[in-house]
Amino acid sequence: MADTNTDTPLEQQEPQHPHKPPPPQQRTTPRQQQRPPGGQQQQQRQVQAVQQNQPRWMDLTVLVPLYNEEESLRELYQQLRGTLSRMNMRYELLFVDDGSSDRSFQVLRDLKRHDNHLKIIRFRRNYGKSAALSVGFEKAQGNLLVTLDADLQDDPAEIPALKRKLDEGFDLVSGWKKVRHDPLTKTIPSRLFNTVTSLLTGIRIHDFNCGLKIYRRDVVKSIKVYGELHRYIPVLAGWEGFRIGELVVRHRPRKYGKTKFGVGRFWRGFLDLLTTIFTTRYFRRPLHLFGLWGLLAVLTGVVIDGWLVVEWYLGLTSLGNRPLFLGGILLVIVGIQFISIGLLGEMISKSQTAHEEYVIKDFIR
Ligand code: UDP
Ligand code: MG
Repeated sequence: MADTNTDTPLEQQEPQHPHKPPPPQQRTTPRQQQRPPGGQQQQQRQVQAVQQNQPRWMDLTVLVPLYNEEESLRELYQQLRGTLSRMNMRYELLFVDDGSSDRSFQVLRDLKRHDNHLKIIRFRRNYGKSAALSVGFEKAQGNLLVTLDADLQDDPAEIPALKRKLDEGFDLVSGWKKVRHDPLTKTIPSRLFNTVTSLLTGIRIHDFNCGLKIYRRDVVKSIKVYGELHRYIPVLAGWEGFRIGELVVRHRPRKYGKTKFGVGRFWRGFLDLLTTIFTTRYFRRPLHLFGLWGLLAVLTGVVIDGWLVVEWYLGLTSLGNRPLFLGGILLVIVGIQFISIGLLGEMISKSQTAHEEYVIKDFIR
């Protein structure tokens, strides 16, 4: 780059000579040096701030959760290498082996021998995709992070397009498998799941559970994915205030092996939606959710029974043959239980929240 300051002599460009003594008023007396130096604290704070922003020595982490995908791994690795080498970024490839019982780990270790970009985490047992993502998020060193499935259904060639979309001003861009290569038993419930999730959560995207996504570092470090909440990552991030984008991506049929999620995925998926709503919206104030329904139930029960008791008092009815009276009592009991659950929830949420621990068997960097 051309130096635009060529007119000014070098000495004048330098604000201060490095070895010049400080001006007299800035010199510290021995007495001043003994005092607890305020400047030192400030320096420490600065160092801490720098450390908190560190480490930032990678531009991109590609995170691949995998469970028994031995046939796909080499091919996936070659495709990833091809795309990433063209992108001119400092990157790491982080594979999280979610307790595979096949040769996945050995295949990865062989690949690692020739490539320092590769990092492998191996779980002691199968914890699930969310756990694999969660640990990957924690260990990732990239400023950006891309996730994709290991089964070759997601195309690594989409990564540059995802990054361009992110640069339009998003914090997370999720792939949209508009044309899907999956059996109908999977695509139809999935469409239902996506519609309901979008309606209930207010996050307007079409494909919540696409494995292919790109994130900014802040997103990855601030959301907590556990259980089977990986399906709701855009919801968790959107509710944290991050900007969520979407990009149509190419989807391919599964070439080897079979899906790791059976039909159970759908009912578990909807229960997880409840968990997501509860833990993000009501996590710190469970009584607001349970208390409201509890109070409503108690009030309805009291009104019904109160009215029946008045009728009985006036001699208009006998309570013995009125099932409604029992219904009122039931409402009161259920209502009190709801309120109690809410209070218990409050107590739990006020005490320390424990995080799930995953046992890492190997971490090869
Ligand atoms: N996966 C995982 N742990 C599991 C189940 C799946 O890491 O317990 C990985 C799997 O290897 C794949 C991705 O998650 O890389 C998506 O799984 P799959 O292709 O079976 O899901 P589908 O495409 O049927 O939704
Ligand atoms: Mg798949």
